[in-house]
Amino acid sequence: MSTGDIPWHEQRSRDEPVYRAQIEYLLGHSAFYREKLAASGIRSAQDAGGLADLHELPFTEKDELRASRDDEHPIGTHLAASMEDVIRVYSTSGTTGTPSYIPLVAEDLANWVEISTRSYGASGVSAGERMVTTYNAGPFVAGVTLDAFAKMGLCHIPVGAGNTDRLMTAVRLLKPQVLGCTPSYAMHLAEWAAERGIDTATSSVNKILVAGEPGGGEPEMRRRIEAAWGARVTEAMGIGDISVSLWGECAHQDGMHFSGEGFVYFELIDPETGALLPLEDGAEGELVYTHLRHKAAPLLRFRSRDRVRLSMGRCACGRSTPRVRCIGRTDDLLIVRGVNVFPSAVRDVVGKIGADVSGTISIQPKTKAVKQVPPLPLVVELARGVAPNQELASRIRQRVRDELLVTTEITLVPFGALPRTDYKTKLVDWSQSG
Ligand SMILES: [Zn+2]
Repeated sequence: MSTGDIPWHEQRSRDEPVYRAQIEYLLGHSAFYREKLAASGIRSAQDAGGLADLHELPFTEKDELRASRDDEHPIGTHLAASMEDVIRVYSTSGTTGTPSYIPLVAEDLANWVEISTRSYGASGVSAGERMVTTYNAGPFVAGVTLDAFAKMGLCHIPVGAGNTDRLMTAVRLLKPQVLGCTPSYAMHLAEWAAERGIDTATSSVNKILVAGEPGGGEPEMRRRIEAAWGARVTEAMGIGDISVSLWGECAHQDGMHFSGEGFVYFELIDPETGALLPLEDGAEGELVYTHLRHKAAPLLRFRSRDRVRLSMGRCACGRSTPRVRCIGRTDDLLIVRGVNVFPSAVRDVVGKIGADVSGTISIQPKTKAVKQVPPLPLVVELARGVAPNQELASRIRQRVRDELLVTTEITLVPFGALPRTDYKTKLVDWSQSG
């Protein structure tokens, strides 16, 4: 199995026979895909062709998987293995109703652990280091990372979320080198400590591994976390139905390296037209995933709804695997008079204002819709001790307009006025929408 050091084009030719075998497996074992592919005139692996023809196959949407579920098929008709062979069933948090179940056979789990090991390994954590984490992994696929930490020989100190006091005590007493959490929580911890006169910058923590939301890839948020903790921030990204930790950033901090090589194939598409985009340096689009050797519930051309910017070419770390920076989730996108606006981009631009702002924002639309009429209501929290003033508000409004081409209506609020979280920050607050 590759470890990211062979040329990328060579990896893709290695994927070819594995992909063909996976299609064969899908047609043999997955009722969902047998039916879906037949509707496109594909009844055999030969009909489907190879990776060069993959872009002609239909996408898989999360909603289709959900629609295939009933009491007889609680997982969905894409279940392709016998339940006797399934050794673990994770759930997604599911914003609506029943959770989606994600089954794994032993081999799937081992592959995910390998992917996660590569991803976290890229971040430069190694055997013997102590890592305190705040994941409430429980029923979620993030639990696989725990197996990866053990495989890597890390001393893992799971503290969980919800008890900042206990977490900071673990940092003080056990002196971990590594902290694993969401970027929102890393920021919150630093503020929490500052209020109590604790200097996180001189703590034992010198690496912070963030995941779960795009903040770790926003330059301003990263800069603030790194300054507060005196630590290097790297991020990781996965997707429940495909694999945990599919992407992991190395110490050179130039985006997250693909860590699923040999197990997962990815494509980049235009999210509006669905057209395949060439994998070129700087290309932007939505990630689409295809399992290459998955058994329990393999997916074909699964639309992630994650929008990324791609970097190709060998990284200074020696890995040849492509890198991405997440731009945002399609689900978070607002369109303000024809202009696409990701809330995380707004936070990043506001953060550039510098020491006058805390870095915490809240977009509060007046109407419950993707399409918004300007000005977009934007609440900006000030830094500790800074008083609201008109000049600052117009400076922020101007900067957002210059960089994102969006007109906003700025409300400045004192430090601490917006909610903090030990999980993911909601950048859009719909409570004001009618
Ligand atoms: Zn690298």
